[in-house]
Amino acid sequence: MGLSKTIWATPSEFLHSQHPDNPVIFFAPSVLQATAKRFLAGFPGMVTYAVKSNPDEMVIENLVAAGVKGFDVASPAEIALIRRLAPGAALHYNNPVRARHEIEFAVGQGVHSYSVDSRTELEKLIEIVPAANTEITVRFKLPVAGAAYNFGAKFGAPVELAAELLKRVAEAGFVASLTFHPGTQCTDPMAWDSYIRAAADICRKAGVPARRLNVGGGFPSHRVQGELPQLDAIFALIDRVATEAFGASRPALVCEPGRGLVAECMVSAARVKAVRDGEHVFLNDGTYGCMDEQPITGMISRISVLTADGVKRVGEQRKRIVFGPTCDSVDRLPGDIMLAADIAEGDYVLVEGMGAYSTATNTTFNGFGAVSIATVMNLTI
Ligand SMILES: *Cc1c(COP(=O)(O)O)cnc(C)c1O
Repeated sequence: MGLSKTIWATPSEFLHSQHPDNPVIFFAPSVLQATAKRFLAGFPGMVTYAVKSNPDEMVIENLVAAGVKGFDVASPAEIALIRRLAPGAALHYNNPVRARHEIEFAVGQGVHSYSVDSRTELEKLIEIVPAANTEITVRFKLPVAGAAYNFGAKFGAPVELAAELLKRVAEAGFVASLTFHPGTQCTDPMAWDSYIRAAADICRKAGVPARRLNVGGGFPSHRVQGELPQLDAIFALIDRVATEAFGASRPALVCEPGRGLVAECMVSAARVKAVRDGEHVFLNDGTYGCMDEQPITGMISRISVLTADGVKRVGEQRKRIVFGPTCDSVDRLPGDIMLAADIAEGDYVLVEGMGAYSTATNTTFNGFGAVSIATVMNLTI
């Protein structure tokens, strides 16, 4: 990925002067730091960052500068990245299935927190990881809705098994904690309510108090025009329900947002390669590029069309079918997309709120994917 060293005022200024032919992601460090500070001030516990949502070094560095002191990592490469950029940070290795060599690597790097959701993987941890000062966090799941997609489909122990695992963690001499992930882009705060109360039930069933409760990621970002994420309401609910459910034995809280921290700090710009016979729009970025998750989580509707000179088209809009650049027919943005009716070849399509799961999942399939990142003072379009 290319990196532009100059800092530009706005995306429009950059497009006007550079006329880039490859996709560009505009990054505003000021927006990222402001979001991080909102989490640090508002969340009633420790804020860690789920590295997978955007592992860009500038993103990590700005989160550290804003005061983030912990990271949710899922692989040796993510562990090495954070050790290099934030040597003193806490690492929570919260991918519940790991190869033995991965666990050994984490132990060597001083990782002291691991999540688990099964008997076999817990025994593996007990065998390899020294128990002293080390936390094992049991990940559980509930059949609850509210998120853009269900994270419980892959990971998480049902409540009964979670209680059994929590007991075993304590017996083996580790610090026993609990975690869940309500599902990404979780706009229904009641998901946290159900999960926190279930966590208290699991502790009662196991007869083991949890030292910490990690309430996951899943904090929503602003994807739909006019629907602002209710972060403060979610923080307040988590705080209130944790006290109601656990009373005097309330565990310390941890959260591990990915999307909620980074989505807002980036805007993507894709160039219009063609408006084929006046109908379908073909962009130079698509579902094999930075738009990979749009078909899964639903299309972001905060979209603007700018001319080749960076001037916003403000006239009437119409629905279009929009394709990415590869020859695969799944390379299409979901549904019909409302775009300026006079969109033309050479224009730019800008999508706001694109900081999460964009550059991280970009591929070079079919020879595309040459995305660059441009730093801007602000993201106003
Ligand atoms: C992906 C992931 C996150 C981050 O999820 P968001 O929905 O982006 O906040 C947090 N924790 C775990 C264990 C994850 O796998």
